[in-house]
Amino acid sequence: PAGRDLLRVQGLQSGYGEITVLWGVDLAVREGEITALIGSNGAGKSTLMRTLSGLVPARGGKVTWNGEEIQGDSPARVLDLGIAHVPEGRRLFSAMSVEDNLIMGAYLRKIGRAEMQRDLDRIYTIFPKLRERRSQAAGTMSGGEQQMCAIGRGLMSAPRLLMIDELSLGLSPLLVEQLIDALNALNREGLTILVVEQDVVTALELSTSAYVMDTGRVVQHGPSRELLRDPAVRQAYLGVL
Ligand code: ATP
Repeated sequence: PAGRDLLRVQGLQSGYGEITVLWGVDLAVREGEITALIGSNGAGKSTLMRTLSGLVPARGGKVTWNGEEIQGDSPARVLDLGIAHVPEGRRLFSAMSVEDNLIMGAYLRKIGRAEMQRDLDRIYTIFPKLRERRSQAAGTMSGGEQQMCAIGRGLMSAPRLLMIDELSLGLSPLLVEQLIDALNALNREGLTILVVEQDVVTALELSTSAYVMDTGRVVQHGPSRELLRDPAVRQAYLGVL
């Protein structure tokens, strides 16, 4: 049912080597919603996504997916459970074609050719540019096209939750608008989305709820519409009151 917590994060701690980055993060992602993560550079947003997807090991706390504890699960297991991660910088296989990158996204699924083709067609319907460019090496595409390909690759795992790190970084306003339209359409079809977005207005307009992170902690959260009106948020992130 829409509105229940699909993902729940309690007291999550993680870091790299001697460095602690997350000091106990609490957050919930409700099913069927778009949730945004905002906060200054280095706040730990990417580290949170990497920890949720199992790329960085959790050092404390709990991550509950559908009622099941998943902290400590491998990236493949997390993906198989239905959580896809579109990483910062997109990390495509740049020498491989767009279509082969998309197919890589489905590597854990046991699907035949017909279902693969159907899912590729669905991605190409969402992002017609990718159909046009399906034989082109992914690394030779524009930043926006690469972001579409990275999102498409994530979708090919048939996730219930799509996590996107730095949605709009370095992309033109027109492309950002296209990506947002695509995400809204996917969300209307029932996809739950967690997005890191450095443009706070874009993040809060796109999302239903948002979390503000600072130095490894959540310092504020609530309905995005309210955060957009919040004087402290406006002053800290928009430079206006
Ligand atoms: P940004 O928008 O700049 O990516 P962020 O909120 O996503 O910010 P993180 O990328 O999670 O923040 O970085 C949080 C902290 O962790 C930073 O101090 C960063 O230097 C550190 N950090 C990130 N990745 C690593 C790594 N692989 N090894 C060591 N430290 C890292």
